[in-house]
Amino acid sequence: MAKAKPPTSMQSKLPLTTQKAAKDKKLKAKSPVHDAAKPKKRKIIVRELAIPHPSPPKWEEVYALIQQHRADGGAPVDTMGCDLAGVGEDDPKDAACDAAVKRLRAVLGGSITLPALLEAPIELIRETIYPVSFYKSKAKYIKATVSALNEEFDGEVPRDVDDLCSLTGIGPKMAFLILQVAWKQNDGICVDTHVHRITNLLGWHSPPTNTPEQTRLNLQSWLPKSHWQDINHLLVGFGQTICPEPGRKCGSCNVNKAGLCPGALPPGAKTTTKKKRGSTKRKRKDDVEESEEGEDGAEYTQVKVVRNKRKATKKKTKKENIEDLEDLV
Ligand code: SF4
Repeated sequence: MAKAKPPTSMQSKLPLTTQKAAKDKKLKAKSPVHDAAKPKKRKIIVRELAIPHPSPPKWEEVYALIQQHRADGGAPVDTMGCDLAGVGEDDPKDAACDAAVKRLRAVLGGSITLPALLEAPIELIRETIYPVSFYKSKAKYIKATVSALNEEFDGEVPRDVDDLCSLTGIGPKMAFLILQVAWKQNDGICVDTHVHRITNLLGWHSPPTNTPEQTRLNLQSWLPKSHWQDINHLLVGFGQTICPEPGRKCGSCNVNKAGLCPGALPPGAKTTTKKKRGSTKRKRKDDVEESEEGEDGAEYTQVKVVRNKRKATKKKTKKENIEDLEDLV
């Protein structure tokens, strides 16, 4: 008769039910559902620089030239975006987000309200906002945020940037935008990828900034408060039409014609997407790229490459398994 194998770990000595409970607990700890529901570590948002950044020379001239480009209002941000569609959409360039907000409004009975979102099952939100990128995480963030608003803020949208940033999925970018749109409070500049990138191309930061938060603090120290709200809309539209990356149209840019853009491309040159340093992964034909704002807003863009369909399916199945387990808890 074969000898029974000795237990290889402490866990294998436990009864089966205890082992299952330990496994479930481990999965629960890893689960994005619980990550979303877990309150975020409170972080105080820096309001201003100790030593203000000086205003860049001729910035008013540059601002006026960009305004000329934006006069026709032909950028996607002019017809879609958070300030038009309502809080919940954070990607003004993405038509899928705009359509998702409209669908969500329709399934919730005409308007996106806190009671309606509290009542709506996560599956319904998930299905409605699909195919927005990271729709599953976003559905979880929405549910986590509305329950935090209900339990911690008496069902009101907070009027303070630190309170807003304590909500899952909200960083300074969205917080300052929410304050402007929901409360008409001009407490800070909403710095997204366009504002961060274009102000660096224009040479407005010395030294150049590495994060949107550095960009915001620099800008806030010299840009008159009367422009804190409009600079985002101005540069997002400009970034969508004249100065996208890649594909900057420096040849037809008024700022370049006036000789006021140090980041302008020489005639005939083209921008290419930068390859990540140290990245050994080579992009394959069937890889999919997805972008998302970091939860704390500091890392404004995360690009993940989902390696071929076979692996993507495997990954999805594992994630689905965790969620199935969560549904049973
Ligand atoms: S000159 Fe080129 S890089 Fe500079 S703002 Fe215009 S489009 Fe952007």
